[in-house]
Amino acid sequence: MSGILKDRIALVTGASRGIGRAVALELARQGAHVIALARTQGALEELDDEIRKLGGEATLVPCDLKDFDALDRLGAAIYERWKKLDILVANAGILGPITPISHIDPPKWDEAIQVNVTANYRLIRSLDILLRASDAGRAVFVSSGAGHKANFSPYRAAYSVTKAALEGLARTYAAETVTTSPVKVMIANPGPLRTKMRAAVAPGEDPMSLRTPEEFAPKLAALCAPSWTQSGQLYDFASDSVKSFKAPE
Ligand code: NAP
Repeated sequence: MSGILKDRIALVTGASRGIGRAVALELARQGAHVIALARTQGALEELDDEIRKLGGEATLVPCDLKDFDALDRLGAAIYERWKKLDILVANAGILGPITPISHIDPPKWDEAIQVNVTANYRLIRSLDILLRASDAGRAVFVSSGAGHKANFSPYRAAYSVTKAALEGLARTYAAETVTTSPVKVMIANPGPLRTKMRAAVAPGEDPMSLRTPEEFAPKLAALCAPSWTQSGQLYDFASDSVKSFKAPE
């Protein structure tokens, strides 16, 4: 494979469908070897077939992100095979319950925290040394406007709180890597895209009115390139621009 990501090693979480699948295909199209993680093995195998048709290569990791020991083992396995990781796309996420805060079932709250926040901390814990071993390590955390908009929506506390926490995690990781390594860390906000998650958030919406993960994927891939220079900022797909975080005024 040729392309700007030729021979880069890229881990994509949530690669079985939606945004993660489109990003995995785009990274492979641009030459990366994709390590594709999700729970649904059959969907990962279909992705593998698609990547092979493009002339690319993938490694499949059927895994639940709540299995934190598995994330430690993944880091060790990547070290054994490649000694480094060039790209982490931390995309997998869940919506969590849509209900008033006082009605949230505690296990559902815990699951949202585990998948949307703790798993990403555990990925950084497992993979930081490998990203630093790359000549141009890139980490992109897929968040949402729900994590930073001025007025939070009611009934979506699990999602908003976990995306705000994810952004805090990513921005802290950016601060920890900026002067000590070539690693660049970005947060990406896809905005509403035509996926299963969006259909669950807005069931009355015409999916054909939305842009697709395939339109977003090349933009996210650009954040993964060795030539990308910014860190600790937000890429916003709706405006196709990079935005800085500001303290409230
Ligand atoms: P989606 O269609 O629901 O896909 C979610 C992906 O995450 C699937 O591949 C799923 O795979 C994986 N996943 C969920 N729980 C997992 C777990 N416990 N372990 C491993 N993998 C898990 O969602 P999407 O719309 O593509 O969203 C992707 C990201 O974009 C999310 O972080 C979401 O918050 C963000 N986002 C989406 C939109 C939108 O409009 N679509 C807008 C803003 C932000 P398995 O089920 O196979 O495990």
